[in-house]
Amino acid sequence: MDFKEFITIVPDFPKEGIRFKDITTLMQNGEAYKKAIDEMAAFAKDKEIDVVVGPEARGFVVGCPISYALEIGFVPVRKAGKLPREVIKVEYGLEYGKDTLTIHKDSIKPGQRVLIADDLLATGGTIEATIKMVEELGGIVAGIVFMIELTYLDGRERLGKYDVFTLTQYS
Ligand code: 5GP
Repeated sequence: MDFKEFITIVPDFPKEGIRFKDITTLMQNGEAYKKAIDEMAAFAKDKEIDVVVGPEARGFVVGCPISYALEIGFVPVRKAGKLPREVIKVEYGLEYGKDTLTIHKDSIKPGQRVLIADDLLATGGTIEATIKMVEELGGIVAGIVFMIELTYLDGRERLGKYDVFTLTQYS
């Protein structure tokens, strides 16, 4: 399936010059959404994954159905102040300024094999921050999946030592 047919490119969103890849049109199509999740779950199937981790909010849209398909748990990564129990945090750089991601301290046990899921790989900053927290908790990042890869931003190089799978690429 050509997933690009279901992804809408929105010019100048959220600001001028950005060509935003909108996955909501893919999600609206039951067959395309299911195929996308099935392909990512198939990549993860033989990796003995214990848990899926996804950053808010589109990482939930991708990660939760994969965890359902693999019959394993899902762990949310969220912005500071959103998770109710004890967390660890990591600061990461944005284009302008910084942001903080958090994860519940008890959500991953040392030695657990983790699949990280998100909608889109751009610079890789979000996922690098997510990896840091997973590894700080003792998790092993056994794979990383995205619906979309923007190859011209070289995020894959930043995630060089990990097993990265992307459904569709824009160059
Ligand atoms: P990175 O941290 O790799 O630079 O940026 C990836 C993050 O930004 C992802 O969590 C993704 O949700 C968001 N993002 C950046 N650009 C786009 C875009 O064009 N479309 C979508 N759907 N998400 C984007």
